[in-house]
Amino acid sequence: MPSASPTPKDLAGYREDADRFIAELDEEYYLHFAGLKDRLELEPIYERHQDLTTLEWTQALGDAVDGDRRIRELWRFACEGHLGNLTKEHSEKAAALETELEAEVDGEKVGFRMLRPTIANTDDRGKRERLDRARTELTEEHLNPVYLDAVQISQRTVPKLGSPNYVDLYRRFGYRLDNLADQCQAVLDSTEQMYEDATDKLFRDRIGLGLDEARRWDVPRVFRAQVWDEFFPADKMLPALEATLADFGIDLHAQENVHLDIEQRPSKSPRAFCAPIEVPDKVMLVIQPIGGADDWRALFHEAGHTEHFAHTSADLTMEERRLGDNAVTEGWAMLMQHLTDEPAWLTRRLDVGRPDEIAREGATGLLYFVRRYCAQLLYEIEFHGADDVTAMRPRYVELLGSALKIEPSQAYPSRRSCARTCASASGTPGSRSARPARCSASSGRKASALTRTSC
Ligand SMILES: [Zn+2]
Repeated sequence: MPSASPTPKDLAGYREDADRFIAELDEEYYLHFAGLKDRLELEPIYERHQDLTTLEWTQALGDAVDGDRRIRELWRFACEGHLGNLTKEHSEKAAALETELEAEVDGEKVGFRMLRPTIANTDDRGKRERLDRARTELTEEHLNPVYLDAVQISQRTVPKLGSPNYVDLYRRFGYRLDNLADQCQAVLDSTEQMYEDATDKLFRDRIGLGLDEARRWDVPRVFRAQVWDEFFPADKMLPALEATLADFGIDLHAQENVHLDIEQRPSKSPRAFCAPIEVPDKVMLVIQPIGGADDWRALFHEAGHTEHFAHTSADLTMEERRLGDNAVTEGWAMLMQHLTDEPAWLTRRLDVGRPDEIAREGATGLLYFVRRYCAQLLYEIEFHGADDVTAMRPRYVELLGSALKIEPSQAYPSRRSCARTCASASGTPGSRSARPARCSASSGRKASALTRTSC
């Protein structure tokens, strides 16, 4: 622990310990979400590395920043870790609840994490509504008290980190939130008509309802796009990924630092994810192929993260390899993901017949998610600046509803979505809860439990 300002030796020790901390967290997430370990146990890891996230370190690093971007990243890491440490039980509790909770709908038991995928796979509109209601009720009753408590702990703690609230803290980390908010508003304004026209057509084609009649339980069904299933078979996913990477000059199976986990396990996350346990030396790409366009998108997205981490130079500092702007790794992920709705790629890799239609649909889905993230960012800036977050529910419904033209449930406003959550949700929204409840690729990049909850 630094007495006053950390020496270069203090900082070197800090980086080393932080590197181990993140590796252990990522390994724990990997084991849990790959179905190899029932309980997600974060507490012992935080305990082993508790020195990293003390208030003293947050203050010492904050004082040492002085315009140095890398030290600023260490400072952010310490602050997020400090908050995460205080709410780690909440993360564990929420993960445990998500695996334990079950709903009974129409005489059938459905696990909490399977509710949204089930909505996406259900043709009966009334049943979709009942599934959605069950999910909302379980969230309200069991999960929201946990999230709310975590947010309030975080709110009470942030002033000790030198900022009146979370939004201000992030401004000091160098996030240009106000500028980004302006850009989000501009995207929402300039794409409104395009969004209404494109989604209205898509909803009519898929479920025979216009955007004005659609409700939130219809959205997962529309983006599920079952009609394309036959063109995106499970058994071609890996070969297509291998061939695509080969076109980039990457031999997936020759990469000693990339580990493919393709085994079937009952409690394995049905959604692909990447766990960069050691960057660049041990990167896990976990999949359980089920097929369908969304599953392909998720695999290619996570493969983008995997290749980014696997190609990161080992000579970089810990903060450059593990921390920094998430847009870098998400950029690679999105680049790979959007090959799967790119007409030239579709024609080369798959026999889909109507590649332009898939491309149009992909663009519509992307617009939906971009608008949703824009609205969420605007919402979260207000949420994290608010004195009483419980009063923010109507605002959540208003902002999200106005962006998407479909009213969201009030049940989710205290869950942090956060711009740093993995954007692989840009596949089927209905599958979100089935994937690891955070950006799988960035689990270790954040030490904050709050910022790990899914959006
Ligand atoms: Zn991602």
